[in-house]
Parts: sequence; C-alpha cells; structure tokens
Amino acid sequence: MRTFPPWRSRSPSTVGLLAAALLAAAVLAGASPVVAQPSSPEDRAALAALIDIEVDRVAPEIVALRHRIHQHPELGNREFETAALVAEHLRALGFDEVTTDIAHTGVVGILRGGRPGPVVAVRADMDALPVTEATDLAFKSSLRTTYLGQEVGVMHACGHDIHTSVELGVASVLAAMRDELPGTVKFIFQPAEEGVPPGEDGGAELMVVEGVLGDPEPAAIFGLHASPTLQVGKIGYTPGPALAAVDHFHIEILGTQSHGAWPHESVDPVVLAAQVVMALQTIRSRNMPPLEPGVVSVGIIRGGERFNIIPEQVHLEGTVRTYDPDVRDMVERRMNEILAGITAAGGGSYELEYDRATPATINDVALTERMVPAMEAVVGSENVIRTDPVMGGEDFAYFSNAVPGLYYWLGTTKPGTTSGGLHTPTYTGDDEAIAVGMRVMSNLLVDFLLQEGD
Ligand SMILES: [Zn+2]
Ligand SMILES: [Zn+2]
Repeated sequence: MRTFPPWRSRSPSTVGLLAAALLAAAVLAGASPVVAQPSSPEDRAALAALIDIEVDRVAPEIVALRHRIHQHPELGNREFETAALVAEHLRALGFDEVTTDIAHTGVVGILRGGRPGPVVAVRADMDALPVTEATDLAFKSSLRTTYLGQEVGVMHACGHDIHTSVELGVASVLAAMRDELPGTVKFIFQPAEEGVPPGEDGGAELMVVEGVLGDPEPAAIFGLHASPTLQVGKIGYTPGPALAAVDHFHIEILGTQSHGAWPHESVDPVVLAAQVVMALQTIRSRNMPPLEPGVVSVGIIRGGERFNIIPEQVHLEGTVRTYDPDVRDMVERRMNEILAGITAAGGGSYELEYDRATPATINDVALTERMVPAMEAVVGSENVIRTDPVMGGEDFAYFSNAVPGLYYWLGTTKPGTTSGGLHTPTYTGDDEAIAVGMRVMSNLLVDFLLQEGD
C-alpha cells in the first residue's frame, strides 16, 4: 500500500496582513477601499495582486505535490490514493465542505468566500493511463499494474497530474485569501476521464447524475487540459465547438468457413471486411459536407487462425468523431446501410454495436469572450492563442452541457525542449506550467465571480 506523506499548508494568517497592506496602499494612492467599491478596477487589481503573492508562496509545495501524484498514477475508478491526497489537502485548507466517494473516487470541495457573490465551479481529472513512462523526469513513474488482464506500466501520460495539482494549488491560493473572495468556488476532482473499466460506470457523466452540479449550483464551470503543442506560458482557447463527440463501434462480419484453396465453398468475411473498411471511408468523403468535421477510423481488424483457412468471422472496431448530432446520426445510419449492402452482396451478414460515448465539448461563446481579457491580463495577450477545434474528446462535455463552460489549453512544454504527444510514453509536462496554471485559473474564477456578482 502506497501512502502519501501528509502535507499541510502554511497558516493563511499572513495573507490577511498582506490584504490589509494592499488595501492601505490603495487608499493612500487615492483609490477606493476594496470593500467600499466591489468589482471596481482597484478591487480587481488588489485581488490579482493577492493571487500573485499566494501563487509565489505555495507554488513550490504544489510542484512537490505534483511530483508525488506523477509518481503514483492510478487508473480510472482506481484513484484511491490520489483522491485521499486531494481530500486531505482541501480539509487542511479549512474548506467549508469536502465530500468524497462521488462517482466512486471523486472529491468535491466547497470554499465560501468572505464576500457575498455567485458560485463558480472548477474541474480537474485525476486518472492516469496504461502507458509505460519513457521520459527522463526525475520523478517519473515506474509503477506497474494489471489492465484488462495484462501487466502494464501506469503513467500520467495525459497530464492529469498537472490538472489535479493546479486545482489543488488554486484551492490553496483562494483559501488563503478567502476573506476577500467575492463568492463561492466549487472544486470538482473527477475520476475516470479516460473511460472506465469494462462493466463499470463513472467519470463526469456519473458525477452529474450524482448531483455534483446541484446545491450550490454553479453559474459556470472552468477546466483546463495540458497541451504539449503549446510552450509553458501560453494558453489556447477555442470559442464554441472545441472537442468532438466520441463514439466507439464494434462490427462482426459473419461468413462461412472453408479451406483456403476452396474459396467458392466459403462466404469470405476477410474479403467482405476489406470492402467494408474502404466503403466506411466514403461516409467521410461522400456523405459528410466537405467542411463538416468528422472522422471514421477503424482501429482493429481481427480474424482468422491459419494461412490456409478462410475464417467464419472478422471483428472490426473503431471510433467515430463528430460535432453535429445530425451528422452523428447520419454516420451510424450509413454504417448500417454499407454493412447491410456489402454483406448481403457477398452472402454473409453482420452485427453492429454503436456506442455513443462522450458528447462534443462546446465552450460557451459569451463566457469565453468575457474571460479572454482575464487570461490576457495574466500571461500577456501575445501568449493567449485562439486554437482550432480538435477531434479528440473530453467528458468535461457533461458539465458544460449542464452549465456554461470554458475548457482551455495550458501550455506544458518547456521552451527549447520537445515533448511526446498526449497518451505517449514521452509526454513531458514541465513543472513551470503549474504556477502559470494556478495563476490563470485563480484569476479566471475570481474575475468571473466579480463580473457575475455585478
Ligand atoms: Zn487523455
Ligand atoms: Zn486528458
């Protein structure tokens, strides 16, 4: 059993003194006191200055926490120790509520500020992947576990260690300045973003079913994802459609087995499967409007036992990525028509199981436009980049379908270095991204509370 050494935040009492000093400075400078004129430019500036002070103070401890999480990666629905660490951190900060075991291993913390205001939520995912780490990080994971019956390495190859530690850092920052916080922040730590083991439920969908967005109901939700294609210090955002809907299909092509030298006695499912693979690509090229985003990919073809036997059955499996729900319906319909036509022509038959997984993640356009200036204020407008939508998926969609959401990219590649892509053994997120992530997210949450409270 692995255990995380206990971690305690420093007393936030020094922060009250800092806030008082800033307030006094603002008054001396002729500005209105913080409390007298809520959400004035001076108020915003004072809160941003407090965030800066707190980020500088807690970042080293949060980076150490990130190393610990990175070295102890846990697969979806198995984030027991990560969740325990998260809950302990939030409790140590004096959160008003900390609830555990949501959607199996999820944790939700509520932090009520000293000033009245709305509620906003922030979400981080905690799960790792069955990938064997091949980075030269001093804190790399050498852990192994069993996944689908096979022994595999486990790695935070999607950067969820960064997501979790940034959100823990934001918790530390906002807890330390809670007297000045103009509203309530709901911190959501989610299990199983990468999917659940077969036969289990979980992830964002189950968190929403279990009421994570109720009482108190957030007016908006924010989330971020590590991006190896952006350097540390840069932020990427996409107004509107940002990440695609993810579907997973299983096909069985059913034929009749024969000797390989007597093909006329078979219904050859290998030949039928080959035609199906090619024909499925015509859905992209001939059934979707050319400017409509969509992908149909076959990732698995499996069939046959011996070189001179035509098998009875071939298994195909793959993924469909779309944005438009009508296009999604069309793809499933066309897959059935293609499979029915080709297998009937060859004398065989088929079975199709089409699973709709995550819906598309659509960033609320008005919210995105409102929040971009806050991002620019933190990292500089030249470092805030409008990025194209991608065909990857994110179950953040379940949250942002329920309340307005903004999901953005946090650059994690150290300038002058390279990183493998997400989900690869060489994905390398730089520690410097942690403080940037904390600063941007803390400012977004506080700015949203100020704006919404106006
Ligand atoms: Zn991932
Ligand atoms: Zn991810």
